[in-house]
Amino acid sequence: MIFKNSRAFAQQCDKKDPLSSFRKEFLLPTDTQGNELIYLCGNSLGLQPLKTKDYIQQELDDWGKHGVEGHTDAKNPWLPYHEFLTQNMAAIVGAKPSEVVVMNTLTTNLHLMMVSFYQPTAKKYKIVVESNAFPSDKYAMESQLKFHGFDPRQGLILWKPREGEDLCRYEDLEQILETQADEIALLMIGSTNYYSGQHFPLKKITTLGHKHNCLVGFDLAHGAGNIQPKLHDTGADFAVWCTYKYLNSGPGSLGGCFVHERHKDNKQLNRFAGWWGHNKETRFNMRHEFDALPGAEGWQLSNPPILSMAAIRASLDTFKDAGFNNLRAKSERLTGYLEFLLDELDNDDINIITPRNKDERGCQLSIQVKNADKALHTKLTQAGVISDWREPDVIRVAPAPLYNSYEDVFEFITRLKSIL
Ligand SMILES: *Cc1c(COP(=O)(O)O)cnc(C)c1O
Repeated sequence: MIFKNSRAFAQQCDKKDPLSSFRKEFLLPTDTQGNELIYLCGNSLGLQPLKTKDYIQQELDDWGKHGVEGHTDAKNPWLPYHEFLTQNMAAIVGAKPSEVVVMNTLTTNLHLMMVSFYQPTAKKYKIVVESNAFPSDKYAMESQLKFHGFDPRQGLILWKPREGEDLCRYEDLEQILETQADEIALLMIGSTNYYSGQHFPLKKITTLGHKHNCLVGFDLAHGAGNIQPKLHDTGADFAVWCTYKYLNSGPGSLGGCFVHERHKDNKQLNRFAGWWGHNKETRFNMRHEFDALPGAEGWQLSNPPILSMAAIRASLDTFKDAGFNNLRAKSERLTGYLEFLLDELDNDDINIITPRNKDERGCQLSIQVKNADKALHTKLTQAGVISDWREPDVIRVAPAPLYNSYEDVFEFITRLKSIL
């Protein structure tokens, strides 16, 4: 696609955009004067779909009307409520329905998955992670290492960008496995790095890990709802993600979890169990020995918060209406336009650290501004742009194809330029 550096061009793209009507289905944040902000922070907290309120209201009404009987008598009965999300969530991550469940939150799910799929021995106990992984993931891995009696400093192998580079190279991961695999139990990689926006080749990484007898898990926090990870086909053993970023399900909303079907009926795996993972037929008998449900559902612990699930349902219905392939096609163009306009600034202090290849990134571009500090981000915020700042010098912006427009991107660049 040929881009042009003009507002008229951006407006024309919006006019031709088959998904442009979805913007009206979201609440767009405004400043104190009621002016719409340029919201480019869907990688941190996605915006609220208008229909979320109705979906939550339905459950509040049914709670009011039925009390405890709502478990069976609500319009959407609460007992099986999580099942109403499964089909659409499985489609979002490219999994079979039996491989996916919505439960808990991301870091909790990561711990639960590591209880089952991090199976260290005295020799083969290390975990490989990308070096600038999200802190919570690192805390989880370090504490798992400690829990098993290992020294976390010895136990984590960092997959690092080379000196002077910002991105991780696959061949370096290969090298790590070729030289150290007899000490490695697990590869635990963020599918799309939160800092650089780099999206990794999930299938290749999984095949590599399995070839060396390691289990493989992914954190899709920045992938789910952004890039189609085709989880089942990757062959990964497990994956976890949250729903409040690209999946627009509200602050702190529940997370998702994937367990590959090869582990579906494996009752030998260690697992931390709870009653919601128990056989549905006998769950309420309360006295049976734990009898895990097959598939990802068997990892559930508690009866889930229905109000959060209602928000996830609303959001997944919106994704389904838009069609994920359509969203991805728009996302590639929208982020491509952002990249084009940044290049047009022709400013030597600006360096896009996110890969230039669209197959190695999602919505987000991470923009390094040399010699800048947080004052730049503050000025952007004062100019009505909601973006995100990462020390020491990176602005992350993520135009979301469901609600961002080409004109948003143009306007962001206009304001950035006037600040620089
Ligand atoms: C956002 C994010 C988290 C947040 O974890 P919660 O348990 O949902 O608070 C964890 N890991 C990554 C990679 C993230 O991007």
